[in-house]
Amino acid sequence: MDADVIIIGAGLSGLACALRLQQAGLRPQIIEAAERPGGRIATDKREGFRLDRGFQVLQTWYPRAREMLDYDELDLRPFYPGALVRVDDRFHRVSDIWRQPARLPEMLRSPIGTTADKLRLLKLRRRALSGDLQDLYTRPETTALKRLRELGFSERMIERFFKPFFAGVFFEPELNVSSRTFEFVFRAFALGDTALPAHGMEQIPLQLAARLVPETIHYGLRADRILPRQVILEDGTRLQGRAVVVATDGEQAGRLLGVESRPTRGTTCLHFAAPQAPFEGPYLALNGTGSGPVNSVLCPSNLSADYAPPNESLVTVNVFGAEHNPDALETAIRKQLVGWFGAVVQRWRRLAVYRLPNALPAQTPPVTPLSGPLRLQEGLWVCGEHAAPPSIHWALASGCDTGAALAATLRADGRGARNASTAR
Ligand SMILES: Cc1cc2nc3c(=O)[nH]c(=O)nc-3n(C[C@H](O)[C@H](O)[C@H](O)COP(=O)(O)OP(=O)(O)OC[C@H]3O[C@@H](n4cnc5c(N)ncnc54)[C@H](O)[C@@H]3O)c2cc1C
Repeated sequence: MDADVIIIGAGLSGLACALRLQQAGLRPQIIEAAERPGGRIATDKREGFRLDRGFQVLQTWYPRAREMLDYDELDLRPFYPGALVRVDDRFHRVSDIWRQPARLPEMLRSPIGTTADKLRLLKLRRRALSGDLQDLYTRPETTALKRLRELGFSERMIERFFKPFFAGVFFEPELNVSSRTFEFVFRAFALGDTALPAHGMEQIPLQLAARLVPETIHYGLRADRILPRQVILEDGTRLQGRAVVVATDGEQAGRLLGVESRPTRGTTCLHFAAPQAPFEGPYLALNGTGSGPVNSVLCPSNLSADYAPPNESLVTVNVFGAEHNPDALETAIRKQLVGWFGAVVQRWRRLAVYRLPNALPAQTPPVTPLSGPLRLQEGLWVCGEHAAPPSIHWALASGCDTGAALAATLRADGRGARNASTAR
């Protein structure tokens, strides 16, 4: 394998790093343990359905996603800006009234929070949208829960809306997550669409991988150890480059670099085939009741018909934690959802259960993005979500910035070496 730089991992950060190096005229090579690119973003095809491995979305505001992805090609399908919240035996629509001003009267009437809560949303919005990201990530840090209480939100609003909605983003039911990360995510929801690519989330990494020179990614190869400018594979093969970039998940990065990895949060996602969607429209339905296993329900095939075969619908149910027994969980979910959607739920057919114990790094405060790319030592660099705050934006940013800095360093080293040989 002939490479300037060996990158370990073809998740978003490894792909972004490789693209940046390629743009700089270098030859990166990626070794990837799996048989496909994308890391934690994956879509499986089964019985004509497209099953995302865990519920995730692209927030179109993400500055790095806008820079790096072709949204038209992804054929993005936006969710309704808001959600349906299950409370008191029925669904209530919560809307982002800046994007859906006609829904203001409905919002004011809704029992999800008090009228004062809805005015407090103005304050939260102003706060989350002010300043640049540098400013946002240097604000006084607390937990999201404490910040919401400081802003005066009622417990009813917190329990019925903020917890189910944002806890589902961080896989942290009590919202004991960084207030900075919370405000970053709030900003993303406020300033752009929340969307799924029409053919599944994996289209995002596939789009990036397709821009790399053919055979840049080597699948089915697992890095076992790293030495200065070298990677030793599990089968003992030794690969050499001018630099090595570790772009794995946090657990593997910790193992390869001999450091402790950050704690993670898990989630479980169940996909069902249904004769009919339990509700119409591009909604996320949230459990605002505070009881039962379900966090949220969506029907990806309501957003894009490509998620299900003709005459069937895909229903996705999300739950906190990954330690569940799948059969017991399925029974408990069906019991709860029969109460929401009626006996038809018993006709749903389970397609897959994804238990994802390391879905996201825990976002315990304080959370600070790196001030620049992370070079651990001469010829050894690190990028990836675990080295930055979570999200597609930060994974891309970390990979891209590492690629740019590494290219500049190698160029400077090359010039240094040329000058030295001319002087001799
Ligand atoms: C269920 C779920 C929901 C999410 N929801 C959202 C969301 O809605 N919005 C959002 O912005 N973000 C979301 N995220 C986060 C987003 O997916 C991540 O930020 C991003 O995918 C991280 O990319 P990465 O490159 O840092 O790491 P990864 O995707 O983990 O990629 C690391 C790669 O390294 C490979 N690898 C590991 N060890 C080795 C080794 N030893 N040798 C070779 N290869 C190795 C792995 O196979 C993998 O391909 C979600 C994540 C999950 C799991």
